[in-house]
Amino acid sequence: MTGTGKFFVGGNWKANGNKESVKKLVQELNDAKLEDDVDVVVAPPYIYLDYVLNNLNKRVEVSAQNSWVGKGGAFTGEISAEQLKDLGAQWVILGHSERRHILGETNETIGKKAAYALNNGLKVIACIGELLEEREAGKTTEVCFGQLKAYADAVPSWKDIVIAYEPVWAIGTGKVATPQQAQEVHAEIRKWLADNVSAETASETRIIYGGSVNAANSAELAKQEDIDGFLVGGASLKGPDFATIINSVR
Ligand code: PGA
Repeated sequence: MTGTGKFFVGGNWKANGNKESVKKLVQELNDAKLEDDVDVVVAPPYIYLDYVLNNLNKRVEVSAQNSWVGKGGAFTGEISAEQLKDLGAQWVILGHSERRHILGETNETIGKKAAYALNNGLKVIACIGELLEEREAGKTTEVCFGQLKAYADAVPSWKDIVIAYEPVWAIGTGKVATPQQAQEVHAEIRKWLADNVSAETASETRIIYGGSVNAANSAELAKQEDIDGFLVGGASLKGPDFATIINSVR
C-alpha cells in the first residue's frame, strides 16, 4: 500500500528569528516559485503568527508549534486552540520531540491536545519518533506505535491529521535517516493505520519525514513510496533552501 495524499512540506521555525529575519523569510517565500502540487505550511513562533498570516502569500498555510490541552482560561503562558483559530492559523504541530523530551509532554497529553485542536477546527501535524537508544534496542516500531495509539485513542477522525515521523536522533543533528531507514518506518506506520484504523485512512493520511532534511537530501528521500513530504526545521529558515525542498515533490 502507498500513500495517495498530496505532497506536504512543513517548516518548523522553532524558537528562532526576530522581526527582521521573519520579515526577510516571508519575503523570500513570497518571491519563491513553488510547485502547485504541494501543500506548504510554515510554523513561526506564536508572537510572529499574526505578522506571517497577514504578510505571507495565502498559498502557504500557517501553523502554531503547540497549543493548550483544553479550553483557555487561567493557564499563564499558554495559548489555546480557540485563540489560534481566531487569529486565522490553520494548523498546529503537536507531539514534537522537543516538547516530549524537553518539556515532558506525555503520549496521553499529546493525544488530548490533538483531539481538542481538531474539535476546534485546527488541522494537526502529529509528530512521533524514537530516541537513539530506543532504535538501538530494536524498539523503533514499538515506540512509534505507542505514540500513534495515543493519538488514535483520542482523536475524532484522521481526516485533518498529517503524521510526521521524526527520529529524535536525526533532529537538528545533521544525521538524516537514510531513505531506506525512513521508508521502512513509514511503511510500518501505514500498515499500523490499515490494521488499527482503516485501509482508507492508511492510504489517505500523509506520512511526512523530519530530521535534518535539507536541499541536498530531500529529492532522494522524496522518491520513497511512503514518504509523502517533510517537516523541516533548520533548513526552513532559509527561503531558497525551503523552496528547493518543497519542489522536490516526486
Ligand atoms: P531539523 O528539525 O530539520 O532541524 O532536523 C526538524 C524538526 O524538528 O521538525
